[in-house]
Amino acid sequence: MKGAKGRALTPRRPLPRRERRGSAVLTRAPAQGERGLLQPEWSPVDLHLHTTASDGVLSPSELVALAVERGLVAIALTDHDSTGGIGEAIDAARGSGLEVIPSVEINTDVPAGEAHILGYYLDHADPFLQATLAHRRADRVARGYAIVEKLRGLGIDINWDRVQEIAGAEEGGAVGRPHVARALEEAGYVASVQEAFEKFIGRDGPAYVPYRKFAPEEAVALIRRAGGVPVLAHPTSLPDWEVRLPSLIEAGLLGLECYYGTYTPEVVQPLVDQAAAAGLVATGGSDFHGGEPTAWSTTVGGTPVPLEVLDELKAAAARAKQPSDAAPSP
Ligand SMILES: [Zn+2]
Ligand SMILES: [Zn+2]
Repeated sequence: MKGAKGRALTPRRPLPRRERRGSAVLTRAPAQGERGLLQPEWSPVDLHLHTTASDGVLSPSELVALAVERGLVAIALTDHDSTGGIGEAIDAARGSGLEVIPSVEINTDVPAGEAHILGYYLDHADPFLQATLAHRRADRVARGYAIVEKLRGLGIDINWDRVQEIAGAEEGGAVGRPHVARALEEAGYVASVQEAFEKFIGRDGPAYVPYRKFAPEEAVALIRRAGGVPVLAHPTSLPDWEVRLPSLIEAGLLGLECYYGTYTPEVVQPLVDQAAAAGLVATGGSDFHGGEPTAWSTTVGGTPVPLEVLDELKAAAARAKQPSDAAPSP
């Protein structure tokens, strides 16, 4: 694939032998029945992963160990509204040859639903970024509590302390609806996290609580301000994403997540074409949260992402860090 602006991208250094292995890219995710039968071939790059720093199951070190075991070249920890896992992941990856890209996934609100904005190669120690993310997490806690209260009003009694425990709130984990869902599952009210969303806490559910609105454009500008590359995550989950795209680009958007989770090649290719047409980097990843793959996510390295995406992302990061190209402050 060509670079965002059509120029050829060459790696800055020759790839060591182990990394070159990764350039054989899967053209599809392994089918359900194939798992365990075939020797899995992992994607060299996975730019969408969650850990216990938000609503993932594995700790940053456990995630790194799995990525190293599978021979990945680079991973991005994209925890929701938190960069709390990045330090541990970088430490764990030291000496392994695996690159850990400092990243985040910011949940934002639009009339049609939620828009998620990924940010790559950002300065995760930036005080303004950290203050804003801390604010967002506090909002999430307040929202989680309101959901639990609303469930109680429906005669469903789950323990708030347990929800926080599941979220790892004391270790800085961001409380989210998946944690409430897991508490509902644990208490036997639903059989699965998916059922919890469908029956109670999804957007149309009786215990849904919206939280303070944060526009995707604000998240894009925030990431640019911290020197990062903002990318619209899993675009098809937002019905009107194409309508929204010009205003996101105006705000400083630099990428579109095209190789996402369980997206089939039929979904991926038009997105890659649209990204190229808009001058955006086509990124991708599994959206792994731990445990078994879901209807939308796969596992670490389970979603095929071409290796050249990494070079294009690095080039975009270099551009994003040039003051002349910086987006206006929010
Ligand atoms: Zn997301
Ligand atoms: Zn995600």
